Amino acid sequence: GPRVAIVGRPNVGKSTLFNRLVGRRRAIVDDTPGVTRDVREAPAQLGDLAFTLLDTAGWETAGGEALEARMRRFTERAIDTAEVVLFLIDARAGVLPLDEAFAGWLRKRAGKVILVANKCEGRAGQQGLAEAHGLGLGEPIPFSAEHGEGLSDLHEALARYIEPMPEEEDDEFEDGEGAEGPSEAELAKRPLLLAIVGRPNVGKSTLVNRLVGEERVLTGPEAGITRDAIRVEWQWKGRQVRLVDTAGMRRRSRIEAKLEAASVADTLDTIRLADVCVVVLDAANMAEKQDLAVAGWVIEEGRALVIAVNKTDLLADDRSAASKAWRKLRDRLEASFAQVKDVPIVGISALNGRGVDRLMPAVFETYAIWNKRVPTPKLNRWLREMETLHPPPLANGRRIRLRFMTQIKIRPPTFILSVSQPEELGDDYLRFLINRLRDDFGLPGVPIRVTMRKPK
Ligand code: GDP
Repeated sequence: GPRVAIVGRPNVGKSTLFNRLVGRRRAIVDDTPGVTRDVREAPAQLGDLAFTLLDTAGWETAGGEALEARMRRFTERAIDTAEVVLFLIDARAGVLPLDEAFAGWLRKRAGKVILVANKCEGRAGQQGLAEAHGLGLGEPIPFSAEHGEGLSDLHEALARYIEPMPEEEDDEFEDGEGAEGPSEAELAKRPLLLAIVGRPNVGKSTLVNRLVGEERVLTGPEAGITRDAIRVEWQWKGRQVRLVDTAGMRRRSRIEAKLEAASVADTLDTIRLADVCVVVLDAANMAEKQDLAVAGWVIEEGRALVIAVNKTDLLADDRSAASKAWRKLRDRLEASFAQVKDVPIVGISALNGRGVDRLMPAVFETYAIWNKRVPTPKLNRWLREMETLHPPPLANGRRIRLRFMTQIKIRPPTFILSVSQPEELGDDYLRFLINRLRDDFGLPGVPIRVTMRKPK
């Protein structure tokens, strides 16, 4: 299959990424101590993409040449032998001279390089992520090999170079994005990756059957029923929808892992590979801790979120009780997640089909917002307005200045804000900006990310 090489200076997390994509067991077997190999290689898989992964960490231990010469030789070999090069930097450490050196060799073949800003979990990587833009290798993918964050963006980037596995067809799409993000026509060409998640027995499988219109997924009254890998693809009003479900897809060793832990890991992996996640709740007891945890993961992972309240057929026909329960759910969501507001909530009965026809419109609407791009000039006129309307606080005797803002990423909308004293701006002011951004540019229901940095 196609070859993908991982390059980068020591300690950026090359092996962790390698292990994650190859699978732990395999990597341990291959990691025979005392055997120095130039390049470690193993079959790897990410979603529907299969490839051979090369880890060039060997240059770090190989002797005989000056460091820089070795680095260069390995990097060039990676460029020559692989279809795609994953260039890792450590976003927490920022861009170091050694990274610049790698970037220099890689820029000559920038067409096949994917820049991965690793160790981006939490907020520690934000400065490094911003710096990575300056390497001249395109938009960096915020990633955490350790936590498995960013897998979906990596999948998307790799999918430009690697054909999906045989049973996949017509996955080709152009990546020409207009000023406002991909157009309707462009979006329509790629399948929407949909995940249906939630705690056991809320009716996920029943809902999938209902959506797809075929009994292709097992359902049953027993919680945690074992499922094999399923592949479900269908059309909704001419748009391609592909269900993401990693249950059973992993070659993860389940012997030592408790089933409980495995299913949490599966849910997380599923969320990470999806565009839109429908979190299914049970109308009889919605907004339980576990429900909020799953919704929280969806937001953390930057996916677009839709909530389906299932089993509404079991509710008594009491309108005021129902609307009270609804309000309570919305309040709990707003209180729990500051990053998103106005998440679409759709009441359904997967069993009798009621309300299900409103689910997919909500999914596609949120998907479009998740793909939206705000033009930079518009954004900066808005920023000036905000600065006048609600001046930032004083810090160290000077007023904090909001200098410049630009959207660096879609899916989800991600912005960089250049500000004179980033560490002093404070969460309240940032929340004010994000709330206004959401209202003024029409970005409800999706996570919005704003990274601050000092002006250059
Ligand atoms: P999963 O574990 O989330 O996939 O849940 P299943 O789809 O297997 O459903 C669990 C149980 O709930 C099954 O007995 C379903 O028949 C039942 N169920 C699913 N959706 C509904 C619904 O809308 N109304 C009612 N009354 N029962 C439902």
